[in-house]
Amino acid sequence: MSSPVTGDFRAGVRDWCRSNVPSEWRSAQTGVPDTEFVAFQQDWFRTLRSGGFAVPHWPKEFGGGMSVPEQVVLYQELAAADAPRLVLAFVAIHHAASTLLAAGTEAQRRRHLPAILDGEIWCQGFSEPGAGSDLASLRTSARREGDEFVVSGQKLWASGAQHADWCLLLARTDPNVPKRKGISYFLMDMRSPGIDVRPIKQATGESHFCELFLDEVRIPVSQLIGAENTGWQVAQSTLGAERGLTMLELAERLGNAGFRWLVEECGRPRRDGGRPIDDAVVADRLAVFETEIAGLRLLCRDVVERHEAGTAGAADASVVKLFYSELLQRLTGFGAEIGGLAAQSVVGKPSSGGWESGAWVLDFVGSWEWTIPGGSSEIQRTIIGERGLGLPREPS
Ligand SMILES: Cc1cc2nc3c(=O)[nH]c(=O)nc-3n(C[C@H](O)[C@H](O)[C@H](O)COP(=O)(O)OP(=O)(O)OC[C@H]3O[C@@H](n4cnc5c(N)ncnc54)[C@H](O)[C@@H]3O)c2cc1C
Repeated sequence: MSSPVTGDFRAGVRDWCRSNVPSEWRSAQTGVPDTEFVAFQQDWFRTLRSGGFAVPHWPKEFGGGMSVPEQVVLYQELAAADAPRLVLAFVAIHHAASTLLAAGTEAQRRRHLPAILDGEIWCQGFSEPGAGSDLASLRTSARREGDEFVVSGQKLWASGAQHADWCLLLARTDPNVPKRKGISYFLMDMRSPGIDVRPIKQATGESHFCELFLDEVRIPVSQLIGAENTGWQVAQSTLGAERGLTMLELAERLGNAGFRWLVEECGRPRRDGGRPIDDAVVADRLAVFETEIAGLRLLCRDVVERHEAGTAGAADASVVKLFYSELLQRLTGFGAEIGGLAAQSVVGKPSSGGWESGAWVLDFVGSWEWTIPGGSSEIQRTIIGERGLGLPREPS
């Protein structure tokens, strides 16, 4: 169990936010070219790093070391100060770091964790056409040639790949064994010859993710993570982080900025002078949201604490991911309903805002992003049923 947090810690973070959170970043980051988005995100990462707040969840020796309650306070204060999120560093500080810490060699950790702190950007090359939910069916192949693997195939939906320096890559290294036993996990340098990155346009107008075409890309054997053909097990640490640890910040942001905006929206007078919040049905919905958010926050803290203590259950991260993403969808959907036509007329979303653009319809569209990656809601329900509740396995 983590030790309690003193009020001094909160006051310190609050003071820091007052002096360091950039003002007006939402309007300044709306509709900007990619280069400006990248520069802004990297600058904000450096600022957080200088405050000691960029990677609070990492071990102390690599620049982290905050207890879970301290992390909760940090995320609450960042959300209350309306600080931008680290959208671009997300895969590096969560997915890549968790994977390196769980399965990397000492040399791989020493090479990459400090580089991530220096701003190295990562993407995740798991999904493929025909192998999203059924990830084990992936067809991208890697054959060994001396001290290198040679990789060919196609990846899909790789978030941030157009800006990435490195990629967490899964590829099939043995086609002759059951599908989960023939996959290996690589750290791929995105500057390697043979990589073609093509951004995909999304419903919100952004191009947050990309297709990756890999043509005989050479990866040194030293960049294999875990043993050859054990990539499936290694991938579980990445997915566990995606579904569980990342949610601590997101839950606090939903509870702070997200809920606050919803209450403000409901309290805004309409043309006839009435306010939605005066309607008992609306007030009731807000009360339900508040209760659900309280539950989500407790659930997240519990999962992260049990993860740190090594007592997390196999489906815990899936429970959090499922609950968060569906609650986000209900909350932003309700915002769009209450916001009415005005909520539909906002077309610009700040590039550094994640779902928290404050534009209800765009945030509602964006909320669907959370019910799909890292395993869709249907897949999370199956995991919870099978691994959490011990129900019979789905036929493969
Ligand atoms: C915003 C976003 C970011 C992403 N970022 C990345 C990234 O950085 N790197 C990466 O590798 N991938 C990324 N993805 C891809 C994501 O992981 C996949 O989209 C996801 O795993 C689902 O796979 P799919 O799209 O192939 O859907 P499919 O597997 O084709 O599924 C289609 C539908 O069928 C349902 N379904 C499929 N199988 C079952 C089943 N057995 N039981 C019940 N229902 C089922 C699914 O739930 C879904 O509703 C991202 C996706 C999004 C939306």
